[in-house]
Amino acid sequence: MTEQAPTQHNLGNLAINPGRLWDDIMETAEFGATAKGGICRLTLSEEDRKVRDWFKARAESLGCRVTVDNMGNMFARMEGSRTDIPPIAMGSHLDTQPTGGKFDGVLGVLSALEVLRTLREAGYETYAPIEAINFTNEEGSRFAPALIASGVFGGVFDRAYAVAQKDRSGVTFGDALDTIGYRGPERCGDHPLSAYFELHIEQGPILERENCDIGIVTGAQGVRWFDATIIGQDAHTGATPMTMRKNALVGTARMIDAIDQIAKRHPPHAVGTVGSIESKPNSRNVVPGETFFTIDLRHPDHATLETMEVEIRTAWDATLRDLDLSGTLTRIWEQPPVAFDKGCLDAIRRATARTPFTRRDIVSGAGHDAVYVSRVAPSAMIFAPCKDGISHNEAEFSSLDQCGKAAQVLLLSVLEYDRQLAAAE
Ligand SMILES: [Zn+2]
Repeated sequence: MTEQAPTQHNLGNLAINPGRLWDDIMETAEFGATAKGGICRLTLSEEDRKVRDWFKARAESLGCRVTVDNMGNMFARMEGSRTDIPPIAMGSHLDTQPTGGKFDGVLGVLSALEVLRTLREAGYETYAPIEAINFTNEEGSRFAPALIASGVFGGVFDRAYAVAQKDRSGVTFGDALDTIGYRGPERCGDHPLSAYFELHIEQGPILERENCDIGIVTGAQGVRWFDATIIGQDAHTGATPMTMRKNALVGTARMIDAIDQIAKRHPPHAVGTVGSIESKPNSRNVVPGETFFTIDLRHPDHATLETMEVEIRTAWDATLRDLDLSGTLTRIWEQPPVAFDKGCLDAIRRATARTPFTRRDIVSGAGHDAVYVSRVAPSAMIFAPCKDGISHNEAEFSSLDQCGKAAQVLLLSVLEYDRQLAAAE
């Protein structure tokens, strides 16, 4: 552990205020509140405008300068002693699913705000500027694809493509930005960051099950999606002997089992799922002559993902041969695995080590803004536990204690990273 510089506060004494963070979560939950205790705050809606205005006003009251880029991403900046280096940023998103919860995304943005407030109150001057970011349309519920604005920020999508996306009523993303007055002058992506830290709820059951306060997110899984079609032959179920069948659904059943086994052969991270099947002609007394099914394969490591695909293709060839079937297996989409930045992860580890909180390394199973931001800035994530792993649901819940601990680690991580920048001068 590094010694503190004599002029600096002891980082361990700086503490966020969990009750104040909780009050902010509850206050902003009113923008789009649902009867069942969740939030419906679709991106660039009137409710989204209200929460954005709230965020802007709060940040400005702390002396932050709030800027907006031409994708509607918001940046609340608190100056450090150096004005000529890019900010250390924290953030997430304030939009929700139609039946979303109070914590997904919100926790990350409001914790960032609480960190700024804590620094301001303590009179702590950082070396680098510090920013809180609200990314537009993380959820992808109103405009596809998800993560579109952090995607433009990270150079994954073209801005022209993004602003032309339409919602179900035909309104474009660009028009929706104008309607709520959040098309800013800054070109999206022209905003260098020294680092990006995103605090988010886990959206899975691991931390809670293991009684862990903090997830140190080392990366995000790679994803491969496949479409599979198996062709056999329609035949009469009564008149066709078992030895003379070409049953596409039996082939599919074998593949479903094979995919399950293959994923289980690569613990603890591998997951493999057949989530959708169509069987033709789907009739009680016809041997199924054709099936279509999907495969979703995930692993944090590229080489293992590759091995799993090879194993699936081997099982596929054997299945078709054994059952006298034919078919096509096509990879239709791939998202490469992301390993978060070592320097950011080190900062989170040092921060967590200053606390009594229990922690473990974890890999994100879901997509997050940090995944795209990591293409242009050193990035990492912190996970807070959530009840029963439930998310994208009005019942989503993390306790005041859980939120507070994670926000404290966010504060200390940013300060650790800031110290490191200062020391490297
Ligand atoms: Zn989220």
